[in-house]
Amino acid sequence: MRYINKKLTIEKISLQKIAKKYGTPFYSYSYSKLKDNINNFKKNFKSFSPLICFAVKSNTNVNIIREIKKFGLGADVVSIGELMMALKAGINPNKIVFSGVGKTSNEISFAIDKNILLINAESLSEIKEINKVAKSKNKKIRVGVRLNPNTDAKTLSQISTGKKENKFGVNKNTFNEIIKYSKNSKNIDLKCLSVHIGSQILDHKPYEKMLEAVSQILNKVRYKFEFIDLGGGMGISYSDKNKKLNYKKYNSAILKFLKRHKVKIIFEPGRSIIGDTGTLVSKVIYIKDSGRKKFIILDAAMNDLMRPALYGAIHRTLPVTKSNIRSKKPYEFVGPICESTDKFITLKKFQVLKEKDLVAICDVGAYGMSLSSNYNLRTKPIELLIKESKVKVIRKRQKHKDLI
Ligand SMILES: *Cc1c(COP(=O)(O)O)cnc(C)c1O
Repeated sequence: MRYINKKLTIEKISLQKIAKKYGTPFYSYSYSKLKDNINNFKKNFKSFSPLICFAVKSNTNVNIIREIKKFGLGADVVSIGELMMALKAGINPNKIVFSGVGKTSNEISFAIDKNILLINAESLSEIKEINKVAKSKNKKIRVGVRLNPNTDAKTLSQISTGKKENKFGVNKNTFNEIIKYSKNSKNIDLKCLSVHIGSQILDHKPYEKMLEAVSQILNKVRYKFEFIDLGGGMGISYSDKNKKLNYKKYNSAILKFLKRHKVKIIFEPGRSIIGDTGTLVSKVIYIKDSGRKKFIILDAAMNDLMRPALYGAIHRTLPVTKSNIRSKKPYEFVGPICESTDKFITLKKFQVLKEKDLVAICDVGAYGMSLSSNYNLRTKPIELLIKESKVKVIRKRQKHKDLI
């Protein structure tokens, strides 16, 4: 995305032009960015060609998943709904892993019927449930166990998942119990150890620690796993100040690990594949002067993009048409929803905006639309895929008649 003649442009089309045709708010995704992200991800780890399973929860649009599938990626799903969506997008079941702490027997049964690659269990009770369902179908099921390696991912506490106080995965003792249980079961084929320590990780050291913890456990248990699923969590640059994850060092740590353990690696990236491809474009409805600051009231709200309200996340926010005049007062960008947390960002010295101007909220491809809701009975925005100067509607704007 860049300014061409002062107009913010995605690939070869200006956001203003798109807004004129499709209205606001809208989500747009850049195809070329998506392609680059996938190719770069593959390149970073090409020496051991991992199975890359896109974390569907980061973006559940069937057309996005379809595009990702064309690059040979599989899917990581966390509910029966996401599993159905991945299958609908044409992802090969043999490239689908099913994660999550609370899979119901209905979900397990569906996953077994679809013959997916792995069900990654997160408790002894779940392993027993999988065993029960598999037995009733007279099948042997490939499963993984998610280990909680007690590793601090050094990310926001709300998106940290690999510490012992988090609900995810099992501790060493339970892990050993599960191995024992699986050895004695005719219906469980324990094939994978999985870990996922959190999201938006920008420091490679937590990954090194996680690999070290996994390596030690593997040495102790002396059980031969076919797969090690390292999860996702690779962070992206939400602001110019963010440092970048050092993929070279992460790759080296994995290569070192692979010298000691002959396994196939699985990744489950979400954000790093789709995050920086997406932009939410919104129109200024009103501007309200409150003395010290001005409220820029947008037609997008926390129901469209919840990350700021949910995690205090910060998204770069840009004018769609650039000028050089700066505002003297800080601007607080808010939505129309009846909640004080319905606020995107406060910026000083933003360019002067007027009512009906457009703003772009950047890097919203991951956990943007997928976290959206109908709160305040607001309809969900339209989603568009941009390829050069072509715009494809990949999800229609919701209508009130869909809701009422
Ligand atoms: C959310 C999640 C991911 C994806 O995380 P990102 O930070 O988007 O890469 C991968 N695996 C599991 C089990 C998850 O819950």
